[in-house]
Amino acid sequence: KTTVKSDIEIAQAAKMKPIVEIAKKINLEEDDLELFGKYKAKISSGALAKLKTKESGKIILVTAINPTPAGEGKSTVTVGLADAFNRIGKKAMLAIREPSLGPTMGIKGGATGGGYAQVLPMEDINLHFTGDLHAITTANNALAALIDNNLQQGNELNIDPRRIVWKRAVDLNDRALRKVVIGLGGPLQGVPREDGFDITVASEIMAVLCLASDLTDLKLRLSRIVVAYNYNKEPVTVGDLGVEGALGLLLKDAVKPNLVQTIEHTPALIHGGPFANIAHGCNSAIATITATKLADYVITEAGFGADLGAEKFLHIKSRSAGIKPEAVVIVATIRALKMHGGVPKTELVNENVSALTLGFANLQKHIETIRGFGLPVVVAINKFITDTELEVETLLEWCKRENVEVALTEVWEKGGEGGIELAEKLLSVIEKEENKFAPLYDLSDSIESKVRTIVQKVYGGKDVEFSSKAKKQLLDFEKFGWSNLPVCMAKSQYSLSDDPTKLGRPSDFTVTIREFKPSIGAGFIVALTGEIMTMPGLPKKPAALNMDVDENGNASGLF
Ligand code: ADP
Repeated sequence: KTTVKSDIEIAQAAKMKPIVEIAKKINLEEDDLELFGKYKAKISSGALAKLKTKESGKIILVTAINPTPAGEGKSTVTVGLADAFNRIGKKAMLAIREPSLGPTMGIKGGATGGGYAQVLPMEDINLHFTGDLHAITTANNALAALIDNNLQQGNELNIDPRRIVWKRAVDLNDRALRKVVIGLGGPLQGVPREDGFDITVASEIMAVLCLASDLTDLKLRLSRIVVAYNYNKEPVTVGDLGVEGALGLLLKDAVKPNLVQTIEHTPALIHGGPFANIAHGCNSAIATITATKLADYVITEAGFGADLGAEKFLHIKSRSAGIKPEAVVIVATIRALKMHGGVPKTELVNENVSALTLGFANLQKHIETIRGFGLPVVVAINKFITDTELEVETLLEWCKRENVEVALTEVWEKGGEGGIELAEKLLSVIEKEENKFAPLYDLSDSIESKVRTIVQKVYGGKDVEFSSKAKKQLLDFEKFGWSNLPVCMAKSQYSLSDDPTKLGRPSDFTVTIREFKPSIGAGFIVALTGEIMTMPGLPKKPAALNMDVDENGNASGLF
C-alpha cells in the first residue's frame, strides 16, 4: 500500500498507440484528422460535416453527489466506464472537458481521470493541450481590446464606460486581477475605467464555443454577446461592434474537438471546459454529438454534483444540442458521504458507519433529482483503499432499500476491469427502465419561476430571494426579450444550498440571487448566488509547489 503510484507515474508508464490507429477504431481516416504530433489530433471540419447525418449512439451522463474539495473521482469513473464498455465488447467513447490551469496549479491538480483510468498524454492535456484555452482567452481579450479602442476612437456606439460588462480573462487562479483599473496615464493611454478579470473557463466565449453546433452557429452566437450598455441603457453587442468575424477566426481551430486515448486505448474527445459552479459545466456540444456519430455509447460528464453540472446538462445543453442521456451515473464516495454526515476533512479515512449513514441523505437527494427528470439512475461507488468492508456493505444495503441500482467501481485501481459491473448495470437499466426525460421547467416560464423551480426541485430549498438589483435586472430582461432563455445557476459546489458549510441534505433554506449576468451569446441567463467568484484564488499551498520538469522535459507533480 505504501507503493501506490501517482497518477502521473501511471500515465507516464502507459504505452500510447499512435492517434491514427485510435482513429481507425472509430472509422476515421488520417485525412479526417489534423495531427498535433503523434498522440493528439483535432477532427477536421470536413469530417465533422460528413458525420452530421449519421445515426446517433446513446449518451450516458456521469454526475456525482456534492464533492469534497479533492473531487470525488467523477472523471476517473467516466474514463474507466468507457474502458469497461469496450471490454465487454461495446463500441464506446468518451466526451469530456478540457482541464483549466486554475485548478491544476491550485487545489485540485489535473483533470484527466486518475489511477488506471486516465486519458493520455496527461501532461499535455493538463497544460496547453492543443491551445483551445489560449484561443478562447485570446478571443476574449481581443474583444476587450476592441471595446476599449472603440471608447478611445470616439465612442461611436455611445457606450457608457461605467456599464461595460465584458471583462478580460486569464486561465489561472489570480485573485489580484478580480478588480483592476485600466486606461490610466492620460489621453493617449485609453479611457480610464474599472475593469476585472474572469478565469477563462468562466468566459462567455467558452460557453459559446461549448454550445455552438458549428462555426457558422458559433459566429451567430458570438454576435449576440452583450458587452456593454449605452447611455440610454440599451445593450451593445459584438454584432454592433462588427467583430464576430474576427473572433470566429481566432476560434476556427478551437471549435474542432480533440481526439486522444485512454490508458486502455479507448478513443476520447476532450473539448471545451466551462466550470460547473460559475458556468454550465459541460464539454462542447460538438464533441458530444460527434462522439455519438462515431460510437454506440458515449460516456460524458458534467461538472461537480447533480445539482450543478447535471442540472445544466439537462436544462441547457440537452435543449440547445437536441440530445438526451439514456441513463445517468451518480458517483459517490464513502469519504464524501461521511463528510456530509459531519466528519471533518482530516478524519475521513477512519471508519465511521453512523456518519456515513447520516451522509446518505445527500446521495438520496441527487437520486431523486435525476429521477425527477425521468431518467434511469445507477449509483457508482468509487472505491478508495481506505473504505472499510462494513462501510461499503452499509452503502450497498442502503441502495438496495432505496431501490436504486448500484455498482462498486474500482476503475482507479483496476482500469476498465473495475467498471464492468457498472457498465452492465447501465445496459440493463437502459433496456429495462423507460426513459421519460423531461426538463423541470419550460422556457416560457419567467426567469424567477425557472430559478425557483431549480431551487425547490433540484436543491430541495424552500424559496428564493432576489436582491433589489436582481429584480431591476429582470424588468430590463423582459424589455430586451431575454426572458425565454434558460437559467445557469452560479452556486457553491459543496452544498445543495448556496451556503458551502451546509452539508448533507439541508432543507428549509432560502437561496439569494445577488445578481444576474446575461450570457445572450451562449443563450442563458447566469444567476449569481452567495459569494460565488468568477475568478478563483490560489490556496495557501498550491499544487504548483509540487510541480517540476527535468532536463529532458519530463513533468512531475502534476498529480
Ligand atoms: P472529479 O472528476 O470528481 O473532480 P477526479 O476524477 O478528477 O475527480 O479525481 C480527483 C483525484 O482523486 C484524482 O487525483 C484521482 O486520481 C483521485 N482518485 C479518484 N478516484 C480515486 C480512488 N478510487 N482512489 C484513490 N484516488 C482516487
